[in-house]
Amino acid sequence: MPKNSQETLLEVRNLSISFHTYEGEVAAVRNVDFSLRRGEVLAIVGESGCGKSVSTQAILGLTPIPPGEIKSGQILFKGQDLLKLDDVGLSRICGSQISMIFQDPMTSLNPTMKIGNQIAEIIRQHQKGRSKRDCIREAVELLRLVGIAEPETRVKQYPHELSGGMRQRVMIAMAMANRPEILIADEPTTALDVTIQSQIIRLIKELKSRFGTAIILITHDLGVVAGIADRIVVMYAGKVMEEGLTDQIYYAPRHPYTAGLLRAVPAMTDDSEKELRTIKGVPPSLLNLTPGCPFAPRCDYAMKVCALQEPEYHYQAENRVFCWLYDQRAAEQLAKFEGMKDRWA
Ligand code: SF4
Repeated sequence: MPKNSQETLLEVRNLSISFHTYEGEVAAVRNVDFSLRRGEVLAIVGESGCGKSVSTQAILGLTPIPPGEIKSGQILFKGQDLLKLDDVGLSRICGSQISMIFQDPMTSLNPTMKIGNQIAEIIRQHQKGRSKRDCIREAVELLRLVGIAEPETRVKQYPHELSGGMRQRVMIAMAMANRPEILIADEPTTALDVTIQSQIIRLIKELKSRFGTAIILITHDLGVVAGIADRIVVMYAGKVMEEGLTDQIYYAPRHPYTAGLLRAVPAMTDDSEKELRTIKGVPPSLLNLTPGCPFAPRCDYAMKVCALQEPEYHYQAENRVFCWLYDQRAAEQLAKFEGMKDRWA
């Protein structure tokens, strides 16, 4: 169990990452801050291209440089800046103290190696001196831990012999092999059908309670994180738009983009004939960003200032929001937004 659930394990500070392309510089992540406490689940939510995966890949040194460039920032893991570590230093931490699972297990699993050997290799990389037989025995236990039936048979199989849901469980087993303090799950359920999705989310939740692992869950679907996340960071166009406790984000969103994402989540009680309420328009190009709030062209509450100048963060208890509505001069517009939220509820 966590020693101190309030202890900050990971802190991303003022992170900016760009990609240099033939068309110009793509500002994928812009002055992003977030932190992860020991034993908590932090969900990072946003549409594709919002910078959520780019921000978290940088934690494990997975930013391709070039074309990528870390323009500024720090990623502090227990006080140590991961951006300053060389490959050897980073490889000591990645896979043992911080590990990651991806959307498509087939791209991470080696199709030519048996499952058991792949898990055993991960264990031996970080726990030198252990025999192969011992590691295979542990691989069987790990498969059992992630809910795979007949693990003694499964260790001898190749990835293509397993279903998509089972392959994702194998990836989780590999990620948990060295009992990391942080597990980063990047869209772990997107490629799976709805029933398997909820099984995988339940499994991640169980691992969190059993081992006290802190989890960063990256998803485009706010509906996925309801029962698992402690806090939610909402990203848009490379920036954090809102951050807050899960209940606050769900029941009292303060940013028009968060409110729009929530309206797009189908409720259990919605009848299937009803049209899904998507957010109008498309995210901006990150190539030539215009001044002002990046959500302005899609926002029903946009004011003149929104297109001219970026807002500042407005803080309230555990929440922060990047929006002009919380400026004293915007009280009337804020009241309209609040009134609209009441009508949606
Ligand atoms: Fe809408 Fe303006 Fe707030 Fe941006 S700053 S979300 S445009 S109200």
